Amino acid sequence: MDIIKTDKNTKLFRHLKKWLEKAVLDFNMIQEGDRVLIGVSGGADSLALLDLLDSPMIFVPEFSILAVNIDMGFDSSYRSYNALEKYLQTNNYQYIMEKTDIGPLAHSDYNKKNPCFLCSRLRRKRIFEIAAAEGCNKIAFAHHRDDIIETLLINMFYGREISTMMPNQRIFGGKLHIIRPLAYLREELVKKYGRERQFPAVKNDCPTSKTSKRVYVKNLLNELERDNKEIRDNIYKAMSHVKPDYLL
Ligand code: SF4
Repeated sequence: MDIIKTDKNTKLFRHLKKWLEKAVLDFNMIQEGDRVLIGVSGGADSLALLDLLDSPMIFVPEFSILAVNIDMGFDSSYRSYNALEKYLQTNNYQYIMEKTDIGPLAHSDYNKKNPCFLCSRLRRKRIFEIAAAEGCNKIAFAHHRDDIIETLLINMFYGREISTMMPNQRIFGGKLHIIRPLAYLREELVKKYGRERQFPAVKNDCPTSKTSKRVYVKNLLNELERDNKEIRDNIYKAMSHVKPDYLL
């Protein structure tokens, strides 16, 4: 696949950069000298995150990045893997790519009921190990505003709790932080940026990716949005407007 270079300094780029920097500062995500591991699945969201974090920042202090891809092993021809590697090399990113069989393992007979749980657990475990080995103190994931909204509903519908993905999550006693610099950005705009920049985004070959709880909740929100355009906005804002006295 040919890598196409496009003009980066567009109106959309400036908009996304502004809100990414705002999220980074509001949630104190990055400090001077941080080494940030960026989880790159190869999808448009993660390539947008990598691209935006690799752009000059106005207010965020100096930090270094390492792109990490854990290939799930769904595509035995490794077409997507090779295209992603070419992209990372062409753009001079420092990167680590690993081929695994996490995907097929998570869908094996003994685990058919809940592949996503095991899949995310194994992938995350490997990312933590790489972060420790490479001296990264921050792990950046490409979860955006829509992911945060959907996760709130997934946790309520299926997990019996009111919680979501945190923009800046302290783990292992503060040795590591998971950060989500796209927390303020709408999925629609992130995907649009992916098209604008012509990232070689790979499609998710996972058989569960079309039937997961996340897809169900996303479709449900789309349905509700037909009657109320502000539904996603309202749910997002409600997370900063919790009235504990009016809960059980
Ligand atoms: S949808 Fe597929 S790739 Fe994503 S977490 Fe679930 S099993 Fe893993």
